[in-house]
Amino acid sequence: MRQSHFFVQTLREVPAEAEVPSHRLMLRAGMIRQVVSGVYSYLPLGYRVLRKIEAIVREEMDRAGAQEVLLPAVQPASLWQESGRWDDYGKELLRFEDRHERMLVLGPTHEEVITDLVRTEVRSYRQLPVTLYQIQTKFRDEVRPRFGVMRAREFIMKDAYSFDVDEEGLDRSYRAMYQAYEQIFRRCGLEFRVVQADPGAIGGEGGSHEFMVLSEVGEDTILVCPACDYAANVELASGKVAGEDGRRSVSEKERFLTPGAKTIEELRDRYGLDPETIIKVLVYRVDDRPVAVAIRGNDEVNEVKLKRLLGARRVELADEETVRALTGTGFGSVGPMNLNMPLVVDDAVASMPEGVAGGNEPDVHYRHVVPGRDFNWDSRGDIRTARAGDRCVRCGAPLEEYRGIEVGHVFKLGTKYSEALSASFLDERGVQRPVIMGCYGIGVSRLIAAAVEQHHDDKGIMWPMPIAPFHVHVLPVNLKDAAQRDAAEQLYTRLENAGIEVLLDDRDERPGVKFNDADLMGIPIQLIVGKRISEGLVEMKRRKTGEVTLLSPDEAVRAAV
Ligand code: ATP
Ligand code: MG
Ligand code: MG
Ligand code: MG
Repeated sequence: MRQSHFFVQTLREVPAEAEVPSHRLMLRAGMIRQVVSGVYSYLPLGYRVLRKIEAIVREEMDRAGAQEVLLPAVQPASLWQESGRWDDYGKELLRFEDRHERMLVLGPTHEEVITDLVRTEVRSYRQLPVTLYQIQTKFRDEVRPRFGVMRAREFIMKDAYSFDVDEEGLDRSYRAMYQAYEQIFRRCGLEFRVVQADPGAIGGEGGSHEFMVLSEVGEDTILVCPACDYAANVELASGKVAGEDGRRSVSEKERFLTPGAKTIEELRDRYGLDPETIIKVLVYRVDDRPVAVAIRGNDEVNEVKLKRLLGARRVELADEETVRALTGTGFGSVGPMNLNMPLVVDDAVASMPEGVAGGNEPDVHYRHVVPGRDFNWDSRGDIRTARAGDRCVRCGAPLEEYRGIEVGHVFKLGTKYSEALSASFLDERGVQRPVIMGCYGIGVSRLIAAAVEQHHDDKGIMWPMPIAPFHVHVLPVNLKDAAQRDAAEQLYTRLENAGIEVLLDDRDERPGVKFNDADLMGIPIQLIVGKRISEGLVEMKRRKTGEVTLLSPDEAVRAAV
C-alpha cells in the first residue's frame, strides 16, 4: 500500500475525553473515528488489525472443531420474552418497534437466537455435540461507553455456543474452548490471566472463567494467588450489576463498607414495609462462615438458590448454637431481633417493593455479592472488599491484586436456555432431554484496544507482528533523491512479491513527519532508506526495541520475510 493513497489522517491533538492511551493512540493513528457515543467507524488501518484478530480467532475456533455461522443482529422480542430476559436484561438491551408495531431488539448476545435455531434443527443425540460460532456486531446500550472501542455500544464479538447431551460432554466442549482462548490470546501477543468469574452462576467451581489482559486501565480488579493457580474477579458484584441495570453505579466504599440492617425493625423501616409483613431471618453456614439472610415470609429460599446467589461451594443451615450466638433466638426467627452481623439481602431472595435498590443506595443491603470473592469479614465481623494480602481460599497464601481488561469469557450455561426455549433431543433410549449448553465470548474489537494498552510507548503503538496492520513500513527519507526513491520502490515491490504486507511512505513530507507517523502507527519493522543508500545500505529499525541495524537491501528483504 502506498501511503500517498492510503486513507489515513494522523492527528497531533485528540479530544480531551480520550482518557486512556489506547483510545488516544487509536484516534491519533487514524484507526477509528467516533460516529456517535460508543459507536465507531474503523478506517483501513484499524480494520486491518481487526481482520488480523478475526483471522486468528477463526483459525483457532475451526481447529477446536467449532463451525462458523452468521446470525442476525436484529432479533424478535418474543425470543427474549420466552427466555425471561426481556424483563431481566435491563436498559442495555436496545428495543424498538417495526412498522407493524412488532417489538425487536438489537442483539447484545445471541443465546436466544442460537437456541431457537438448534431447537428446530436438532432432533437426536446423533446430531450432538456441536459448537457454533460467529463473528458479529453486537449492540449494548452501555450506561457509560468509554475508552473508545474498549467499552463501546456497538462492538464486534466472537460468540460461540456449545450443545451437548450431558455434563461430561459440556466439560469437554468447555475445555476445548478454554484452550482455544488461551491459544488466541497468546497468538495476539497478550499477557493475560484466566480468572474465576462467577463460580456461583451454575453451581460449583469451574462454571465460568474470564480472560483478563493485565493492564492498569482495566475496569476489573482481579485477585491472583502467587502460590497456587487460584485467581478470581472481585468485581462482578453490585457496582457493575447496578450499572447494567441502568441504576446508579456506586463506589466500592458505598457498595461494601456500609453495614446492612441489624434489626428487623430497621429493615422494615428502610424498605417501607408495613408491620404486617413477615420477615424471616435465616442463618446459614456458607463455606463455613455464618451469613444471615433476610427474606419475606412468603418467599422461597433454599440452599440451591443461596449457593447460586452467594457463589458458595457449600451452603447449609447453621447449627443452633451459631444461630443463638448471632441472633439470640432459634431458626426462622420472626419479629424483633438484634444481629451482631449485617443481613445479606438480595432481590432474588427478598423481592422488596419496587424502587428499592438493594446495595446501590448507601446504608442498605448488599446484593449480588459473593462473600470471599467480593468481600471478606474483618476481625470484628464487618464486611469489607476482598483485597491484596487476603488469604487465598485454596492454599492460604496472601493474594495479589491486578487490574484486568476482560477480553474473553467462557460460561457453562447448562439447561438455562434449552429449558426456557424447549430445545431438546431424543437420547439413545428415546427419552426427550434438554440440550446442555455453554457460551463463549471474545471481545474482538476490545482486543485491539487491549493490545495497544500492552504495546505502546510515548511515541505510539508497537504492534505485535501477528496482529500488525502491516509487517513492514518502508520510509524513503528524501523522495527528491532519485537513488533513495528508486531503492524504496524496489524494496516495496520485492517485499510485496514475497507476500509481506508493506506500507510505503511515498508522501512528499519532511523526514520528521514521516518518522513520527511511523512510530505512531507502530508497524513492527521500519526500513529507512536515506543517504547511506549511496553505500548500498538501509536502516532496519524494530519499533518495539528501537534497535537499528544497517543492512543491504537484499539482507533487509531476507530479514523481513
Ligand atoms: P464487561 O464486564 O466488560 O461489561 P461483559 O461481561 O458484559 O463485559 P460478556 O457478556 O461476557 O461481556 O461478553 C463477551 C465479551 O464481549 C467480553 O468478555 C468483552 O470482551 C466483550 N464486550 C462486552 N461488552 C463490551 C463492550 N461494551 N465493548 C466492547 N467489548 C465488549
Ligand atoms: Mg457488560
Ligand atoms: Mg464482565
Ligand atoms: Mg463477561
